[in-house]
Amino acid sequence: MEVNTIIIGAGPIGLTCGIEAVKRNISYLIIEKGCIVNSVFNYPVNMTFFSTSDRLEIGGVPFVSHGDKPTRREALEYYRRVVDAWKLRINTYEKVFSIEKKENQFIISTSKSVYKPDNLIISTGFFDYPNLLNVPGEELPKVFHYFKEAHPYAYKKVAVIGAGNSAVDVALETYRRGAEVTMIIREDKKKTIVSQYQSQVGSIVKGRIIRIDNNQIHLDIGKTEAVLPKENQIKNERYQLNASYVVYLKEIVNDRFGNPRIIVSRNDPRLLIELFKREVPEIANGAVEIRKAVREPGERAKIAVFNRQTAVDPVGACVGQKGVRVQTVTDELKRKKKIDIIQWNKDPKLFITAALSPAKILEVEVDLKQKRAQAYVNEEQAPLAIGKNGVNVNLASQLTDFEINIVQKQETAHKTPASNSPEKEKNKQKTEDNNHQQATDH
Ligand SMILES: Cc1cc2nc3c(=O)[nH]c(=O)nc-3n(C[C@H](O)[C@H](O)[C@H](O)COP(=O)(O)OP(=O)(O)OC[C@H]3O[C@@H](n4cnc5c(N)ncnc54)[C@H](O)[C@@H]3O)c2cc1C
Repeated sequence: MEVNTIIIGAGPIGLTCGIEAVKRNISYLIIEKGCIVNSVFNYPVNMTFFSTSDRLEIGGVPFVSHGDKPTRREALEYYRRVVDAWKLRINTYEKVFSIEKKENQFIISTSKSVYKPDNLIISTGFFDYPNLLNVPGEELPKVFHYFKEAHPYAYKKVAVIGAGNSAVDVALETYRRGAEVTMIIREDKKKTIVSQYQSQVGSIVKGRIIRIDNNQIHLDIGKTEAVLPKENQIKNERYQLNASYVVYLKEIVNDRFGNPRIIVSRNDPRLLIELFKREVPEIANGAVEIRKAVREPGERAKIAVFNRQTAVDPVGACVGQKGVRVQTVTDELKRKKKIDIIQWNKDPKLFITAALSPAKILEVEVDLKQKRAQAYVNEEQAPLAIGKNGVNVNLASQLTDFEINIVQKQETAHKTPASNSPEKEKNKQKTEDNNHQQATDH
């Protein structure tokens, strides 16, 4: 067969080369010793890719998967669709045995034919070449360099060498099928990987839950694992295996054996700040500044924003068109929590008034020395100013650094319902209770 270019291997790279040949009208043929994407076919049966599907896309063919990380099965289906979409010419189950170069031609001998193309692309990957350790015993029949599925290891003692993503998956899968698993890790390698995250402390990362042990959640954050301890979780947030969450990379600490552990948080107020930084370019470029963020995780949050450039509306920038920016932040926090964006003001009275929003405040009195404030409201605004379980006034207090007391102002005659109405008595009691709670909270 006369072809100008031979591509050896129908893995993702070989297919991409085929697509480029189609685009350039080059006569080509892909020769593959197994099936299409043979290496992916030989990957562990239950594996999930570590990359999101959009990162694995080739030839402009969209890769849609059920989870954000595709499974092996989804990948196999995807690459078949790529071959169909581009009508790629592939000879499967034909192995290349030898390649020779004679003047301007290659002579390629395969299990089925001999080809003499002008150009040759070798895209045979590295899957067929295991990382040998060169240690005694490695050649024994019970030592495997490839993993298919966990069942054969049930109730056996298994040693997994290495601590990369695949090794962790193998260890977990065999452990879940009843194997007694020991992971053997070169400690300094683990330390090196963890130390690569040092520069990311104080930023946000995305992690997929790979294990839940008692109250600790373990997430795969890319090159290694991070821990989300109970005290850094959002109360009442349901954490599900394999689900992905954005987390704040809080610190790297040493455990009692001196091993570094990456600690992440879902309830740290700085997660909120970092999420806004990501969504709002005006924050990233310094035109708008978040002065403070306070949260009642899973329920409500308030952020105080300030414009360094007068032309920019800081609240509008954070809210975005039709609320899209604040909505994206809320979505990352999963729960339908409310985020109040407050304009910071150097006048404490104005700042406190804004911080108590959405309640309408009549007047604020401040004691600057004691850092205490009285905020006067109408009767019907009192529950709103205080919030459920005092959450609104507590967050406003934290945001402004003032101990705020909500005081119900005497109603004018035409607004006041009958003074002994049961509704009014009930509201009054509620307000007093809440005020009391707030006072004891501080
Ligand atoms: C468990 C696992 C998980 C992974 N997860 C990810 C991930 O999440 N994200 C990511 O980007 N990468 C991931 N990878 C790596 C990724 O799969 C590879 O980088 C990718 O497959 C490389 O593509 P390739 O075309 O270069 O090689 P391969 O996919 O290995 O393709 C090479 C092809 O060449 C064929 N071939 C070899 N020798 C011959 C011969 N003599 N004659 C004819 N044909 C031959 C092979 O059969 C094979 O089909 C993962 C790998 C593994 C093992």
